[in-house]
Amino acid sequence: MKHKSRIRTGFSEFSKKLYINTKNKILNELNANEKDWNNPKWQLKNRISDVDEIAKYTHLTDEEYENIKNVSEKYRFAITPYYFSLIDFDNPNCPIRLQSIPSIKEMNENGELDPMNEEQSNPSGKITRRYPNKLIINVTNACPVYCRHCQRRRLIGNADKNTSKNDIDESIDFIKNHQAIREVLVTGGDALLLSNSRLEYIFNELSEIDHVEVIRVGTRTLVTLPFRIDDELASLLRRYKVQLSTHFNHACEITPEAVRAIDTLVDHGILVRNQMVLLHNINDDKYCIQKTNEELHRHRVIPYYLFHPKDVKSTEHFQVDISKGLEIMKHLEGRTSGMCKPTYVYNSPGGLGKVPLVPMENIEYDENGYKLTTWENKTVKKSYHNPND
Ligand SMILES: *Cc1c(COP(=O)(O)O)cnc(C)c1O
Ligand code: SF4
Repeated sequence: MKHKSRIRTGFSEFSKKLYINTKNKILNELNANEKDWNNPKWQLKNRISDVDEIAKYTHLTDEEYENIKNVSEKYRFAITPYYFSLIDFDNPNCPIRLQSIPSIKEMNENGELDPMNEEQSNPSGKITRRYPNKLIINVTNACPVYCRHCQRRRLIGNADKNTSKNDIDESIDFIKNHQAIREVLVTGGDALLLSNSRLEYIFNELSEIDHVEVIRVGTRTLVTLPFRIDDELASLLRRYKVQLSTHFNHACEITPEAVRAIDTLVDHGILVRNQMVLLHNINDDKYCIQKTNEELHRHRVIPYYLFHPKDVKSTEHFQVDISKGLEIMKHLEGRTSGMCKPTYVYNSPGGLGKVPLVPMENIEYDENGYKLTTWENKTVKKSYHNPND
């Protein structure tokens, strides 16, 4: 209870004031209205992608200005006016700011561009396949906001580009020819930056393949461009029984707008799961992770994964040690609903797949059986079960 009130959510009075304040400044500057604001095309067209635009809405010191300018020449940035309006510029560790505004720390050269070796697991078209019965199709490299911690930074390049029809068709053919594939992840970039008609083409082709049982879409629009989610899109997803994965990292991203998008999806029967990334200074705090997952749970989003960050070049400042993640997972046990507990995983380098990271100290065994430790540090014993007895 003590920590709960410390963590900012998208519903706190403070967040609402920030949002309205910056939103009005942007609308004034661009001579636009509420209707424009709620239009995803307007949001994309008016992304903030230049340091001079940031400087219109907040004071930057000379050093901050130069740093953003220099870093963005190497790694571009783009922020929807919506997401930008959630930034608390008075807080250097504002989670929205750290995720969207370039930092001088990105110039650190440690880490790799493609630690997952995705380029090596590309059998055809725009596919990444690392597992026997599920694979990914990357349908675009574009995203509404370029997250500073993105593991696919190498694909963002200098321009937004949807995958060609030819590459999509090649990917679909590969799936047709491989009966083992039961699940297809349509992702990017952000898959929901494709038009509804492009999406429908892909879903329709996939749904005609007998062995494809599940289509999953990966999108962060719930967080970065919630206006993209409307009844028309939700009905389209429903028609093909598409399941959705999204990426909330902090409770302050769970705003009234985001919840409207979640409600639209869930009311249409779409399963929405969250894939959070553990990030230093953003959410590497057990109470923050608890609160964020509880807000998701309350709004009917299932916490699915907590990803340990990867060694991607220019994101070293977001790294944490695995012991931190294990401590968070241990904290969640018994202190919150089981529904609020994601699986903590590390994506091994070289494309070797995901490894679950589980606190181990609550299970020991000797010749008599198991010794289990409960969430309150009480010990219980459980003997071995011998099936021949
Ligand atoms: C993570 C991942 C998947 C999906 O894995 P789930 O554990 O089912 O969510 C599929 N393909 C690749 C290459 C992945 O990295
Ligand atoms: S939305 Fe996802 S793919 Fe796009 S920049 Fe952010 S983390 Fe990367």
